[in-house]
Amino acid sequence: MTTRTRFAPSPTGFIHLGNIRSALYPWAFARATGGAFILRIEDTDVERSSQEAVEVILEGMKWLGLDHDEGPYFQMQRMDRYKQVLAEMKDKGLVYPCYMSVEELDKLRERQMAAKEKPRYDGTWRPEPGKQLPPVPEGVKPVLRFRNPIGGVVAWDDKVKGRIEISNDELDDLVIARPDGTPTYNFCVVVDDIDMKITHVIRGDDHVNNTPRQINIFRALGVEPPVYAHLPTVLNEQGEKMSKRQGAKAVTWYRDEGFLADGVVNYLARLGWSHGDDEIFTREQFIQWFNLDHLGKSAAQYDEAKLRWVNAQHMKMTSDAQLAVFVERELKKRGVKPDARLAGICGLFKDRCDTLLVLADWAQKFYGDVKPDAEEVAKHVTEPVKPAISMLARMLAECPWTKEDISAAIKEVLRATGLKMPQLAMPVRVLVLGTAQTPSLDAVLALSERDAVVARLKGG
Ligand code: GLU
Repeated sequence: MTTRTRFAPSPTGFIHLGNIRSALYPWAFARATGGAFILRIEDTDVERSSQEAVEVILEGMKWLGLDHDEGPYFQMQRMDRYKQVLAEMKDKGLVYPCYMSVEELDKLRERQMAAKEKPRYDGTWRPEPGKQLPPVPEGVKPVLRFRNPIGGVVAWDDKVKGRIEISNDELDDLVIARPDGTPTYNFCVVVDDIDMKITHVIRGDDHVNNTPRQINIFRALGVEPPVYAHLPTVLNEQGEKMSKRQGAKAVTWYRDEGFLADGVVNYLARLGWSHGDDEIFTREQFIQWFNLDHLGKSAAQYDEAKLRWVNAQHMKMTSDAQLAVFVERELKKRGVKPDARLAGICGLFKDRCDTLLVLADWAQKFYGDVKPDAEEVAKHVTEPVKPAISMLARMLAECPWTKEDISAAIKEVLRATGLKMPQLAMPVRVLVLGTAQTPSLDAVLALSERDAVVARLKGG
């Protein structure tokens, strides 16, 4: 059997990290098993759906490398298909019209609540052999209700939650078409999952209550339901369900903040799944290792500090040339035009950066004015070291521009003046890069432009 998974977001808000984890796992499962990953946009809530939200989904998935094999399908474009299936179900007696008005339903609910019963539709309009249905009211358009089985249980072996059994008596006859004929949510999902031949539904556990209803519709349509895996919620740093209203940021925010797609994929992978104690892994390893047997059972909590740490590890793992491609994009946005030195600069600084933006800040210092902080200058560029700085400036104006020659010049100045390395290196760093904390001085200088270095040292 070829596995077929899907991600079925509703474009009703900007997709955040918690939501996109529900794309990552089905994607990884499809890739791990050589199957297909399908993207389906569930846009039937016309009031709340927006094109911008669709764009964020598409952009976010593209950025993270969660490529789909089919789709995006849009539910609004599949209305005819849903109506066709509804008509078939009507012909087979699987659905029936219900004329109960909203007022009658409210009254029914009140009565049930007063009797301490669970509110549910009471089957008034459900046809049964020998049953007399009420007279059809005039001018009322009915809803269509699904004939839920009576008695027995609906059960499935959830890949995260284990066996779940729901008694059919808990489920009333679901409305699957509104009076104007438009199909409702749970019905569309089943038709899609059947048509798209989905074998594994991996989704948030906020849908677990829909599953028994969906399974019953599957079976009524003569199709065995897929395997289900309901992922526990992702909590925000305050321990609440992650949501846009609670300040969760759109996935694309992480791209714009300079996170690496591989870092975010690694972080999200661990937010609800594990492979032994492995914390840092590549996309290839993730795909190789991913299965549905090691999904976490409890809610995972988002932790930005950990995300930054994971990203920092991926910064180190990424080649200098690849980082240079990303950083160049950022520098160009800032109006800075880098050159062939950029990969070397990225290599020298990547160990101390947790995002590409931080790396771009460093790189930018090599391409334009540096304005050292006056306090730093006062602290490090003291009278006793000024002659040494001038001497270094003179030597650097002449020597071949290689790390080895620069290193030799620095040593020569130290020998001639009797200063210790930090006494010279700190002020030189402040003057050249604007900060006393940099990687080794000879490497930094070799990647700088000679004229700029000499001018900055002379200015000091
Ligand atoms: N559209 C639903 C959501 O965004 C997902 C439905 C599903 O995965 O079955 O929550």
